[in-house]
Amino acid sequence: MLCPDCVKVRPDQTISWSFGLAFGLLLELSAHKEKSLNLQSAMHFLYPPQCLSCGEETSADFALCAECWREAAFINGLVCDVCGIPLPGEPLSEEAEEHPFCDDCLARPKPWDRGRAALLYQGTARRMVMGLKHRDRQELASPMAMWLKQAGQGLFSSDTLVAPVPLHRHRFFTRRFNQSALLAAQFAKLCNLSHCPDLLKRHKATRIQESMTLPERYENLSQAISVPSGHLAQISRRPILLIDDVMTSGATLSACAEACKSADAAEVNVLVLARVARDT
Ligand SMILES: [Zn+2]
Ligand SMILES: [Zn+2]
Repeated sequence: MLCPDCVKVRPDQTISWSFGLAFGLLLELSAHKEKSLNLQSAMHFLYPPQCLSCGEETSADFALCAECWREAAFINGLVCDVCGIPLPGEPLSEEAEEHPFCDDCLARPKPWDRGRAALLYQGTARRMVMGLKHRDRQELASPMAMWLKQAGQGLFSSDTLVAPVPLHRHRFFTRRFNQSALLAAQFAKLCNLSHCPDLLKRHKATRIQESMTLPERYENLSQAISVPSGHLAQISRRPILLIDDVMTSGATLSACAEACKSADAAEVNVLVLARVARDT
């Protein structure tokens, strides 16, 4: 049906006007696109895109230079289903029901269900994690979240609750932010999942673990992490995905997973940006 104004003209004229309007709109849109491309080119001229890892000039935003790309040990292929460490052998098909475990996870079962890591903690990944953690490069969280999403396929569903490994408040005040919470927030936003940054609380100021033996690490963290009573209803019977920047022995993630399981979580999976290749 035609409106009163259109009735005054022939129907074929109305159609040609519609085409004219659509064509005009297209021209307008392409002019806007061109303007935005010109603006982008001007911004790139003034502020050339830099490699996320080393700061070298790159051709695109949020990218790695060729050298850092070569040094980025992204984890692909067959991995341990629990800790995400690469294993020798062919990758499994999508339908495979049995997933392999590494020797360490067989010898010392972890309290979480499944886990993945995006990269090995070396070269580019190590530089980027140090940049995020100690040099306040918070802009790295967004590209890191994309790598987490890629590595974590199959570990989460639409009702998964995402939570970071907590930092004790003393360390939070010296560092001013929790790098795991930044990663978890970006990841949850990217995957459209619920995020609870304070689902877990570290109520004991644990010592720095780098020089400790494995039993010392577990002892250092025992009873250090719990779910505050205000979050018990939120966690009950819900799948939880814990996010951290680096997994070394898995002691911290174990303490977090145990706290979640004690609080009746339905399933606890872990996803980390980088995995130390061998436990120290
Ligand atoms: Zn680089
Ligand atoms: Zn393993």
